[in-house]
Amino acid sequence: MAQINVFTVLVLTAFNLFTVSLALPLLMGRQVSRAGRLAQWSLLSQMAGWVCIIASGFWVGHWLDWALSTATMVFASLAPWLLFGALEQWLGPRPGKHLLLALVLLMPLGYALLFPHYSPRVGWANFLLAAQLLVVARAALWPVRPARRHWRWLLAGCHALIAGFTFARGVMGAFFPELYPSFEAPHPVNLGAQVAANVVLVLITVAILVAWRDEAEAQLRTLARTDGLTGVLNHRAWHEQAAAALAHARRHGQPLTVMLVDLDHFKKINDRHGHDVGDRALRLFAQAMREEVRESDLAGRLGGEEFAVLLRDTPLNAVHTLDQRLRNRVLPEALPSLGFGLPFSAGATELQAGDGEIDTLLNRADQAMYTAKANGRAQLVLG
Ligand code: GH3
Ligand code: MG
Ligand code: MG
Repeated sequence: MAQINVFTVLVLTAFNLFTVSLALPLLMGRQVSRAGRLAQWSLLSQMAGWVCIIASGFWVGHWLDWALSTATMVFASLAPWLLFGALEQWLGPRPGKHLLLALVLLMPLGYALLFPHYSPRVGWANFLLAAQLLVVARAALWPVRPARRHWRWLLAGCHALIAGFTFARGVMGAFFPELYPSFEAPHPVNLGAQVAANVVLVLITVAILVAWRDEAEAQLRTLARTDGLTGVLNHRAWHEQAAAALAHARRHGQPLTVMLVDLDHFKKINDRHGHDVGDRALRLFAQAMREEVRESDLAGRLGGEEFAVLLRDTPLNAVHTLDQRLRNRVLPEALPSLGFGLPFSAGATELQAGDGEIDTLLNRADQAMYTAKANGRAQLVLG
């Protein structure tokens, strides 16, 4: 260990960060998500921190030493803050945000004020930085949802390790300044920390790339579930989720209702106004449907101008309310924007004791809907 020069490893860390900070944007491309961008900025901020600390070494005794060292602490604090932001984008709200913000603001501030006093400033900066890293480590793992992934453990482990070394640096600087007179002191804690920083950098980069790939995968999954024109569930996804809802309703003895909707004389709309207007009409209707159903309900486009809604925990007679809400909304919205009313026929049915799969309900709803068509359209029939 004694042969390893801390300054050399320090320069290597900065150099590696520089390389990674350049490589990541190139690898991830221009269209990278907000989370990916925040992670990139986090690494860039770390690099800026190391560059400042190296530069400060050349200005000891000068006011620039104070300025560069304080800048180091600003960048070192900014890096966990930005990574925390990336985690929130990837995993949803994380705990500890306010605590982290306080630590991020107080760390450089206290350091700048304590600068003339070596032990307090080194203790302050390292203890608060260690706390920041632990908040990030915790945020990577908890809450567990969405699904646990290996990259989260990797990120948390890396941050915990560096937090440990940073804490040790704080203890050495604060309580044993004679053994630890400077950042470049060839002390085992310092050497270990610097080597660990290098190794961890590689692992964090891998974790960021895997997180980014997971994000792209999730986007693809969403894309595969949604109907391209209207944004509601597509046929396959609606069927899958409806089958699951049916099984759940059966197990818990809950009522369940399915409503099928078919726009009236849609062929004429296309013929008269063109396919583009037809598409706009479909989007308008789907949007209305999505907003008028409950969050727990499933709205999907089964094909063409035919839509389905599954209402969880809802008896058949309640479907009148939804049907009415939909009609009251679609007509006044369609008239000014499309120039016509967009009436629809609907058929609804409830889960019954002898029913097999979801298709049994769909067939019954379909028959009811055709009765609605036969009865003059623009109405709901229960089946
Ligand atoms: P009915 O009242 O009996 O339902 O008459 P209809 O004309 O709506 O019924 P039909 O099923 O014969 O016609 C459906 C039409 O919907 C045919 C097709 O041109 C149109 N259509 C299907 N998918 C799309 C689409 O994605 N965009 C547009 N613009 N039109 C579509
Ligand atoms: Mg049809
Ligand atoms: Mg139709």
